[in-house]
Amino acid sequence: MKILVINAGSSSLKYQVFDMDHETVLCKGGCERIGIPDSFMTHKHADGRKKEYKQDMKDHGDAIRLVFQALTDPEIGVVKHMDEIGAVGHRVLHGGEKFTASTIVNEAVKEGIREVIPLGPLHNPANLKGIEACEQAMPGVPQVAVFDTAFHQTMPRRAYMYALPYEYYTKYMVRRYGFHGSSHRYVSAEAARLCGREGDPEFKVVTCHLGNGSSFAAVKGGKCVDTSMGITPLEGIPMGTRSGSIDPAILEYVMDKTGMDIHEMTNVLNKKSGMLGLSGVSSDFRDLEKGMEEGDDRCAMARGVFVYQGRKLIASYAAAMGGVDCVVFTAGVGENDGDVRQRMVEGLEFMGISIDPERNNVRGKVAELSPEGARVKVLMIPTNEELVIARDTLALVTASQK
Ligand code: ADP
Repeated sequence: MKILVINAGSSSLKYQVFDMDHETVLCKGGCERIGIPDSFMTHKHADGRKKEYKQDMKDHGDAIRLVFQALTDPEIGVVKHMDEIGAVGHRVLHGGEKFTASTIVNEAVKEGIREVIPLGPLHNPANLKGIEACEQAMPGVPQVAVFDTAFHQTMPRRAYMYALPYEYYTKYMVRRYGFHGSSHRYVSAEAARLCGREGDPEFKVVTCHLGNGSSFAAVKGGKCVDTSMGITPLEGIPMGTRSGSIDPAILEYVMDKTGMDIHEMTNVLNKKSGMLGLSGVSSDFRDLEKGMEEGDDRCAMARGVFVYQGRKLIASYAAAMGGVDCVVFTAGVGENDGDVRQRMVEGLEFMGISIDPERNNVRGKVAELSPEGARVKVLMIPTNEELVIARDTLALVTASQK
């Protein structure tokens, strides 16, 4: 079966088509500036050819129609007719407490996604638009929703409750949800497989998804027991532009000093903090590395804060699980930045966690980084959220057709 995977953002829409008979990617691409002048789409065939479509997209419906045009383009497309696409899998940011797993979309599911819009005000409406645009353009083709939050729904109450007045939880859904769930699920399952511990309820992994957004998860026996992002992706380790966890009293203090309102303040925490805020140079770890090598002390500081906070999370999750068998690095920074990986585990030798510098000289492929015979395996596993979405979609659609 061929499966289309859609990741719709507020003004962008990324897609991939998988041939699930071989789990190969046939093509991928993305629409940008949806609803903004000068929108365009880039389409890449698996054979390396590329085509750019400069076309106005006033909404996600236009974007989906343009994606269909590219998929059936005689020059660079991957299907003759859209009916060769058997199902569509959608990445959905927030599933609240309602969605603990991926699900086939129906009216009730759409209503559920709508109910938690207050928790994902930018993404959930875009995700819904992507779903509705596909429903209209390809009626009768099953649509599947795969939630970023679902994998974390197994967390125990002690991990997801904030120590706030209890009614904030019951009335306003205030609790830790966590994100990057498909990535943590994929790499933790791969880790269990690679360590020969699949299905072992005692296998304990800390997964470190280090990208532009970063999050950690403690996964015991394949189930998430804690994660670092919160009710929104702002909590946890400092990120490219997000502050991560800070003393909440800073908000009032800085707002008094600067005259910012709460929206401006939140925007600073999301867009102007983290690595960008600390370095004053960039949110990109490559730029920070270059700055550090050229003697820029603030670039060095930013990376230092990042690895220190990460190291504390790895150790605290080992404590939360009563031990750790494996640490996994993944995503843009985790897969490419050996210096971050090396320094993040520095000082954790007392727990059996260390990285062999030679083995660490690797990128882009599964690798064992810990020394031969180490008590804790440190692995680098490239993440593949789109493949998780395609697999879930295939499994649900196949089951529903039986
Ligand atoms: P997103 O959270 O947007 O999915 P990614 O997981 O793709 O992010 O990670 C993107 C980040 O990865 C970039 O901002 C950059 O900091 C980092 N990165 C990518 N390539 C490299 C590299 N070769 N060396 C160091 N960092 C890299």
